[in-house]
Amino acid sequence: MRQEFVEVLKKARGSHGLERHEVIVLLQARGEEVDALGRAADGVRAAFLGDEVHLRGIIEFSNYCRQNCLYCGLRRDNRKLRRYRLTPGEILATARKAAGLGLPTIVLQSGEDPHYTAPVLADIIRRLKGEVGVGAVTLSVGERSFEDYRLWREAGADRYLLKHETADAALFARLRPGTTLQDRLLRLKWLRELGYQVGSGNIVGLPGQSLETLAADILLMRELDVEMAGIGPFIPHPQTPLAKEPPGELELTLKVLAIARLLLPRAHLPATTALGTIHPAGRRLGLCFGANVIMPDTTPPPYRCYYQIYPGKAGMDDEMEATLVALKNMIHSLNRRVGRGPGHSPKIQGGMNNEV
Ligand code: SAM
Ligand code: SF4
Repeated sequence: MRQEFVEVLKKARGSHGLERHEVIVLLQARGEEVDALGRAADGVRAAFLGDEVHLRGIIEFSNYCRQNCLYCGLRRDNRKLRRYRLTPGEILATARKAAGLGLPTIVLQSGEDPHYTAPVLADIIRRLKGEVGVGAVTLSVGERSFEDYRLWREAGADRYLLKHETADAALFARLRPGTTLQDRLLRLKWLRELGYQVGSGNIVGLPGQSLETLAADILLMRELDVEMAGIGPFIPHPQTPLAKEPPGELELTLKVLAIARLLLPRAHLPATTALGTIHPAGRRLGLCFGANVIMPDTTPPPYRCYYQIYPGKAGMDDEMEATLVALKNMIHSLNRRVGRGPGHSPKIQGGMNNEV
């Protein structure tokens, strides 16, 4: 192992803070250095968060999108995609089923679809928390106004996922036409002000990305002090302008995840579906490199196959029951256990650290 690598890893473990050039030293890990990075991240995860793996049921309730992100199969110019929307009744029924299967928290995700006005979504959130008794609701519906975010927070939404995608402002503007990194970050600030548990994250392996950019991504997540961070590889979709680009690499994604764990010891980090899509053992490896959350897809099967962010999404054809059994077996095989309760950020009062 390089002496420099050993020293930086020791510093990261001890202080959970690094300079950008030091993050790059870790990103350049090869061979046994990668193993050492994974072990260090796993140790920090165990020390700060314990052995629980939290399962959050994700409901992809609409694949309509007004945005045109170059990497995403839901982009508005993809005319080949069959579009769908779940009714409020279908969303509630899906959440009820998920709760019955032991998934205490729900993530509501969609394209940017203004069809769901703020009051309509607020009503769904209220009923999820009240009628269905969902322990925590996470929203991931893209860029909306401060007022919309406020209404949803008041209706009971607990968390919001809005990945910054890439910390390179020029790359961001190129990949997400008509939007800016600055606007995205402003929204993350609003969400923080409104008292959400805030989630950001990036895509690893985007065309035009460098190790410098990835280091900036990790340092940005630390600066934002996020409660959650979704870190997944880029997967090219055939009906997008990036169809012919190579996918993000498994090893690089695991390295980014592990460094994020070292620098954000208390954050909830999912072993993402994208990780499970580029490699059959991707989610398992994610759990060994610092992750402590899995978000199984609970979207009803007639719709699930149309939520094509990228092709071959892990868990696409499976029944929810079978998926959960397989995930729980995998968690137990790592000597970990399935989290109980809403699995709130340990940073907030009454959160995970105080649960039984
Ligand atoms: N529309 C909302 C938004 O963009 O924030 C939420 C849904 S969007 C489909 C969720 C995430 O999918 C994005 O934050 C992005 O990181 C990820 N994503 C989209 N296309 C992807 C691709 N081709 N490969 C990997 N991740 C992708
Ligand atoms: Fe729409 Fe989100 Fe896909 Fe962009 S990443 S096209 S905003 S669903």
